[in-house]
Amino acid sequence: MKSRASVASGIILLMLASSLAGCFTTGSAGPNYDLELEVDFTDAASATYKRGEMHIFELEGTGTLTVPPTILLIINGSVVTSGSITLDDAKTHGHILIPPTTNSATIQIDDRTVEIETIEGNPIVSGVEWYDRMEFITSICSDSTQCGAYVNRWMGTPNPAFERAASYFAGHFTGLGYETHILRVNDHLNPSQPESLNVIAWKRGRNVSCVQGMGAHMDIAPPGGPPGGGTYEGAYDNTAGTVSMMLFAKALVNMEVECDTFLALWSSEEEGLRGSNAFANNQCSYCLPHDKELKFYINMDMMGISWPAHKSNGDAFPYHAWSGPDNDPDVNEMEITEVMEYVHWDVLEAPRNLSINGSYGAGCDQHWDEHQSHVFDVHEDTFGRSDHVTFRNKGAQTIFHLGAYDDDYSAYHSPSDTLDNMVAVVGGVEELQKSIEFVMWAAYLEFIIADQTPSIHNVG
Ligand SMILES: [Zn+2]
Ligand SMILES: [Zn+2]
Repeated sequence: MKSRASVASGIILLMLASSLAGCFTTGSAGPNYDLELEVDFTDAASATYKRGEMHIFELEGTGTLTVPPTILLIINGSVVTSGSITLDDAKTHGHILIPPTTNSATIQIDDRTVEIETIEGNPIVSGVEWYDRMEFITSICSDSTQCGAYVNRWMGTPNPAFERAASYFAGHFTGLGYETHILRVNDHLNPSQPESLNVIAWKRGRNVSCVQGMGAHMDIAPPGGPPGGGTYEGAYDNTAGTVSMMLFAKALVNMEVECDTFLALWSSEEEGLRGSNAFANNQCSYCLPHDKELKFYINMDMMGISWPAHKSNGDAFPYHAWSGPDNDPDVNEMEITEVMEYVHWDVLEAPRNLSINGSYGAGCDQHWDEHQSHVFDVHEDTFGRSDHVTFRNKGAQTIFHLGAYDDDYSAYHSPSDTLDNMVAVVGGVEELQKSIEFVMWAAYLEFIIADQTPSIHNVG
């Protein structure tokens, strides 16, 4: 395993190597070198760059194109993690993806620099779309084209409301072309325990020997449960994460993946991670394969109330992302930690040193004494309490995204965990849309970059 320092120096060496390669290519081509970049069929210098959108590019000639971390190059459906392409009298094409946080950037086209300014766009993973879908799922009315009313989704005794919602969610993935299954497991040894019922959507990878995934639990805390009396909408915990998975599925349709990828909605998380365990430890053809290397898993639970949203007292809501496993709290051990940090600090340019006066109500396991005033609690940690634990126990490198919780969000596991309450605590629909959009982009980018990071491996 690498320490943080050795990985950082490796990245610097790579950067040196690519810039040297560019010099030699340019030099050997002599005065005839020329590299042309068109974006959306327009010269790069005069193209329109919309935030959150994919732009088509065509590159032709000899030389090196380099984009900064705040812009992603995508070729053959995968991210070029170096941000650099060198051509020798050739032609290539692909996409440029501009995160919603990138307002301006400098692109290096061989020996020219092009300064670009971005304008507002329609993001491929969008807080506005997330909100519309949340509203549809949680609203109850007589016109079923207007209101899904997919509420009361607790596991327990067979619950028709849960089954109906699971069918709706499964239909979303099927409609996007995913090989989608409903995994129903009855625990016959313990008939008083709930069965689990997961939605599993598979996307096949280029490499048949490995597997990776993302997921969120779609069940909600049952009525009467601790600590808040259970919930009906479960808007924050975890309709929010469920809808983020629906949006990731849509954004990943036109991407290629390296390893077979599961996009999962778990049941029975609130009953002890029973749904993800049923997927990971059964032998069904669409369960987790046990003859392939499980590389990484990204988990979304309790999303949308976090920085950049603010509490009514003016403090930012805390933002939590924890990678794992974390065997030594003093050292970064996991390659996926590098990806998580790169996405937050370099791609999305989050204000990593932001802090509040005083301390938050809840946070990480290993460094809380030092981190309790940090808005961004983003690092390797042992934190459990959700479905990433199932995959961490199988040696996967994991990232767990979690918004404000426990003492920082009073509606936790209570009937007031509603979409209206989420809007109220962050101070408006637009604030909520911005807040969820940031964390969704973090997770989406972590996924597509981790997918192209071969050093991420099973550590079990
Ligand atoms: Zn919960
Ligand atoms: Zn921490």
